[in-house]
Amino acid sequence: MIKENYESIERRVCEACARAGRKRESVTVIGVSKLHPAEAIREAYKTTPLRAFGENYVQEFCAKRDALVDLDVEWHFIGHLQRNKVRALLAKRPTLIHTVDSIELTDTLERIMSEDRPEEVQDVLIEVRHGDEDTAKTGCYPNQLEELSEHIARQRHLKLRGLMLIPPIEADPAQTRHWFKDIFRFAAWMNDRNDMSVLSYGMSSDFEIAIEEGATHVRIGTAIFGERHVNES
Ligand SMILES: *Cc1c(COP(=O)(O)O)cnc(C)c1O
Repeated sequence: MIKENYESIERRVCEACARAGRKRESVTVIGVSKLHPAEAIREAYKTTPLRAFGENYVQEFCAKRDALVDLDVEWHFIGHLQRNKVRALLAKRPTLIHTVDSIELTDTLERIMSEDRPEEVQDVLIEVRHGDEDTAKTGCYPNQLEELSEHIARQRHLKLRGLMLIPPIEADPAQTRHWFKDIFRFAAWMNDRNDMSVLSYGMSSDFEIAIEEGATHVRIGTAIFGERHVNES
């Protein structure tokens, strides 16, 4: 099932790249495996070329990382990050943390990196808050992006690599296109001072639109691993 799902996604990614005049290698598919067992990741690893996985919850991230130490893959942290979970997360060396959204979280990450991994640098993205006030709960407000990016740039143990967005859930996926256009513009504007080459947006329902609008990392869960049966709150 995972293999067939992946093949269909891969075909659609290739088609979206072709429409956008982009190379297939310019897009990384992150398999979002939250609430699926570690064995689902192992199956994906064995039966598909998928080599990047994303998790939302620190405890689950750590458990799967431990269960799958033998796999040579990228581990993305894409969930909301609470400061009291930072040490546990950093201990498992995530490839990329997508969800830095405040000065306070940045300071906690920097402090714990300097204590626990003083010789290393952790790659991070800023999660940008979309403009729909009714549904936006996390992320940095666009008018604070400049301040937060400059603050991250001053940290010795953090490297800002780009931006991440979770758009509001729209009945019609085509409605998300304008959020992707906004974030692409923010990244271009910030690129003067930072290397903002990573753009993380697009999920099962809208990844093709995201690729057309410049995403370098699409985060696909349901369309690869199937429905999640646990209540996500
Ligand atoms: C769950 C999740 C995804 C994947 O969503 P699907 O609709 O299942 O593809 C992507 N990004 C984030 C931040 C998520 O929490």
